[in-house]
Amino acid sequence: MLTDRFGRSIEYLRLSVTDRCDLRCTYCLPKGFKGFEEPQHWLTFDEIERLLAAFARLGTSRIRLTGGEPLLRRGLPELARRIGALPGIRDLSLSTNATRLDRYAPALKAAGISRINVSLDSLDRECMEKITGHDSLPKIMAGIMAGKAAGFLPIKINMVAMRGVNDDEIDDMAAFCIEQGFILRLIEAMPMGATGRDAAFLDLGPIQSRLKEKFNLRPHASELGGGPARYLTTADGSANIGFITPMSQHFCATCNRVRLAVDGTLYLCLGQEEKFEFRPLLRDGASDAELEAAIRSAIELKPQQHDFREQPGKIIRFMAQTGG
Ligand code: SAM
Repeated sequence: MLTDRFGRSIEYLRLSVTDRCDLRCTYCLPKGFKGFEEPQHWLTFDEIERLLAAFARLGTSRIRLTGGEPLLRRGLPELARRIGALPGIRDLSLSTNATRLDRYAPALKAAGISRINVSLDSLDRECMEKITGHDSLPKIMAGIMAGKAAGFLPIKINMVAMRGVNDDEIDDMAAFCIEQGFILRLIEAMPMGATGRDAAFLDLGPIQSRLKEKFNLRPHASELGGGPARYLTTADGSANIGFITPMSQHFCATCNRVRLAVDGTLYLCLGQEEKFEFRPLLRDGASDAELEAAIRSAIELKPQQHDFREQPGKIIRFMAQTGG
């Protein structure tokens, strides 16, 4: 098992398969952004498979494919199949904006991805156009429904809640998710890059209390998904709403994850600069034992917590570059 300096078991890796995205969410990638990684720097499928196999030998058991928008990476189902087949990997999931999910859902399910998280900040077409920079809602809804038909379970809907942007839609989104059998997760915007800092931050504490009352929710008895969300559940347990509150109530003490960017850089924390570059090792013929030793030293670099509140100007990379 990989354990960091603070005694946290690191058993979860988020793999960014591309830093590119077909949307330009206001709080994530800026319009006209040109700083994408060169294709020759992208880890190949063989390099990813080899590195993740080393992580798995050291106890990493859960992998999430993310980005950028992961469905933009050609051959994603093939990569998913290869990762899912690695000894020790027992959970393979995907984060997507769903714009292409109607085309790929069956292939991704067949490749071994069991559950998906979909970003959806609004059910209003104009509001989604304002947030994502595109008339994206019809394609996203088609993608979500294709995911449901393909049998992904659960489907979690991630909504970044922003004051004056979509906070008036939270109740509608909760009702939609309850009706469809999806798990809604409300997320506080983080100051990642100028876009994240400019997002209209909304403290989810008061929202949590209000939803609790309105939908007669109670704290969920157990963890759902092993992540940072704190869940409330309906009286009959049939529906859940999660709250991801990195700003108002951070969860660094239980952080169990690291993020591998498309160029092979391992980021140890979303809100800090500590990182370790694996691409040179992979391309300079490092042995499996050397890779494993490098992973152990990288985990040693994991910081105790982020400084998003204390130093909101610190992180200049955008979420899509780290792997959200
Ligand atoms: N394209 C995929 C998607 O849409 O889920 C995966 C990558 S996206 C960067 C992952 C998640 O990060 C999305 O739910 C997005 O809303 C969230 N995100 C991006 N920038 C953020 C920020 N500054 N604060 C909080 N969440 C952010």
